[in-house]
Amino acid sequence: MVMAASRIEKIPPYIFARIDKKKQEARKKGVDLVDLTTGDPDLPTPEHIVRKMQEATADPRNHRYPSYEGMLEFRKAVADWYMKRFGVELNPETEVVALIGSKEGIAHIPWVYLNEGDVALIPSPGYPVYKISTLLAGGIPYIMPLREEHDFLPIREHIPEDVRRKAKIAFLNYPNNPTGAHADDEFYERAVYEARKSDILLCHDAAYSEVTFDGHQGKSILQFDHNKRFSIEFHSLSKTYCMTGWRIGFAVGNSDAIQNLGKLKTNIDSGVFQAIQYAAIEALTGSQESVEAMRTVYARRRDIVFDGLTAMGIKVRKPLGTFYIWARVPTGFSSAQFAEKLIEEKGVVLTPGSGFGEEGEGYFRISTTTSEERIREGITRLKSMKL
Ligand SMILES: *Cc1c(COP(=O)(O)O)cnc(C)c1O
Repeated sequence: MVMAASRIEKIPPYIFARIDKKKQEARKKGVDLVDLTTGDPDLPTPEHIVRKMQEATADPRNHRYPSYEGMLEFRKAVADWYMKRFGVELNPETEVVALIGSKEGIAHIPWVYLNEGDVALIPSPGYPVYKISTLLAGGIPYIMPLREEHDFLPIREHIPEDVRRKAKIAFLNYPNNPTGAHADDEFYERAVYEARKSDILLCHDAAYSEVTFDGHQGKSILQFDHNKRFSIEFHSLSKTYCMTGWRIGFAVGNSDAIQNLGKLKTNIDSGVFQAIQYAAIEALTGSQESVEAMRTVYARRRDIVFDGLTAMGIKVRKPLGTFYIWARVPTGFSSAQFAEKLIEEKGVVLTPGSGFGEEGEGYFRISTTTSEERIREGITRLKSMKL
């Protein structure tokens, strides 16, 4: 067989392979697993969005190739939503591009900005795509540790001056997967200030900007980068409208960055199915009741997990955003050991922190995208574990 290219070899082995194997073994034995790993909403896509998709699917005008950058109507809906939600003005023609899910844009942006050997600043723990896409593009990831003592925000002092000067892009993600942390205004202001000083493109992943609790609201980095000189922001309908399977998101921000990303994309994909774009317009411009309902559901589940873990003496912060709980592994275990023990002894599956990068060691992530009943069952089993 032909050897795969070295860039494929660069992709580290799938970190959750061992956990998956343990899961399969348990299933084979007939264990009733409580799986608290997936970052995929169990709630259905709101009905009015599904209906719009059904209508649009029946229209032959939507059966042909869509435009590469997304229909103007979709990009206008995005611009209107940005104004309403963040008070940020966007030119739909030059500052918005449709994505086949935000992961697609996140995976492509390093190809647009990194020459062989260029540095990208990558948060750890973090969404694995930032680092892998940097490696695939021939870039060098420089890890920005997110530490609990700094509220899981990267700090300047952890990045040497010469690295900051050399870096071309930096990934940020708040509300944050996996830590559930949020960033305040001061953080965004500082990030923009640093980006200006070191000429870095900030790539803000705002997938969870709408999944927030207790009155907290996610921010757009464009609220702080007033002339859109230093940032591109990735957004997704996946989490806000429970549309992970639909594959639609968008990037907004600096027009050069948007045009460059678009140029790459025209040579790789052929846009988003128009019927899906119509559904997305409905999502962004129609009733937002489902979003509020979604927040209520996740907030309640968060409280169940938080109370349960706290009662066990596990150290945990109550997140103001995302559907994840990030908690300390009890002493004496690595995060992978703890996760494996839990599957074997209790049939509960959670994600070891090390899967999100070296700085995730010592933590585990619980996702609340499963029913309250199953979450309660998981917590009950966790509590019964001998530590
Ligand atoms: C879920 C998620 C995304 C993106 O999802 P898409 O479905 O590709 O839009 C992006 N970033 C983070 C951190 C996520 O958790």
